Amino acid sequence: MARRAIVAANWKMNGDLTLVNTMVTGLTNVELQDNVSVVICPSTPYLSSLVTKVKAEQLNTAICIGAQNVSEHESGAYTGEISTKMLRDLSVEFAIIGHSERRSYYKETSTQVAHKVNAALNAGLTPILCIGESEAERATEQTETVLASQLQPVIDEVGIEKFIDVVIAYEPVWAIGTGKTASSEMAQETHQFIRQFLAQANENVAAKVPLLYGGSVNASNCEELFAQADIDGGLIGGASLQVEQFKIICSAAKGK
Ligand code: PEP
Repeated sequence: MARRAIVAANWKMNGDLTLVNTMVTGLTNVELQDNVSVVICPSTPYLSSLVTKVKAEQLNTAICIGAQNVSEHESGAYTGEISTKMLRDLSVEFAIIGHSERRSYYKETSTQVAHKVNAALNAGLTPILCIGESEAERATEQTETVLASQLQPVIDEVGIEKFIDVVIAYEPVWAIGTGKTASSEMAQETHQFIRQFLAQANENVAAKVPLLYGGSVNASNCEELFAQADIDGGLIGGASLQVEQFKIICSAAKGK
């Protein structure tokens, strides 16, 4: 049974039109293994030009565009927010939801994250649902409890069957942007826990959900991480701003 691998670039509040151009040019000759998708998630102002340039260059259809966030509301008086429909209008296919920076700086709760995942799925967007524990939670052996508490509200809201269209990114908060990567053993062990947690609700769905690792992935450590049985690619921050390094990471991913 084939499980798709995904390498997603989270530019965060970085990048500019020059990076949009350099990335699209760089991706014209990226070498991808079978069953791999690449998702570029720029800041909202660059979504439109990225979509236009990807279309103009007729890039491999495995290259997709994603947003970094989305509103849980359909429309209305929510100044500054962006709806699922607006993203679909721009041909955006993915949305990162529940990134730890949104959970910590903007106080997004797991309930709100669940609403956003639901809104994304209803609009035909693929959510990249981010979960992960803090350093203190890892140190006090609460990792599994924390991950379960982040996953369960989403399962309760959308139903486990819909996870067939969800991508999960496990991102230990202490590894994001710090240069401290989880060891491949630790990452695999945690991914296996996540898959088993989903399997308690539906084994068939659990076997098909792509589980990405995020947290200081770079061109040197990607191969070992992606070789792990339950790691289906990565969510890449800092290294996704460097096109040549990002291409190496994309080429290391392989469907399982
Ligand atoms: C991220 O922001 O999702 C991330 C994984 O960042 P970095 O790769 O820089 O750790």
